[in-house]
Amino acid sequence: MSKQSPAPNWRDLALGCATLEPGSSKYQITGNWRSDKPVWNFEQCIKCGVCTVFCPEGCLKPNEEGLPIVNLDYCKGCGICVAECFTGCIAMEEDKD
Ligand code: SF4
Ligand code: SF4
Repeated sequence: MSKQSPAPNWRDLALGCATLEPGSSKYQITGNWRSDKPVWNFEQCIKCGVCTVFCPEGCLKPNEEGLPIVNLDYCKGCGICVAECFTGCIAMEEDKD
């Protein structure tokens, strides 16, 4: 049996795609991580804006009618918007794209 090499120190890891400068987070397409995505039933939406406040990615913005619109480039599918919407008009579904 071969001996496992020790895990590297975090300082030795490759830099990768870090957010280092102000405004650079827009270049991190966090939507690439997503396996599920939120979908809305706008018939039930009361346009309260709670989902837009709690979205950790800031990827929900109200349209001209006040309905929340998701930018799927940055939605990572965490489901927080679903948990916080008290009207139950958001659901998560598998993202097959
Ligand atoms: S699933 Fe998460 S990241 Fe996507 S819109 Fe909802 S709260 Fe934001
Ligand atoms: S929290 Fe629910 S009801 Fe409120 S704006 Fe978002 S989707 Fe609509």
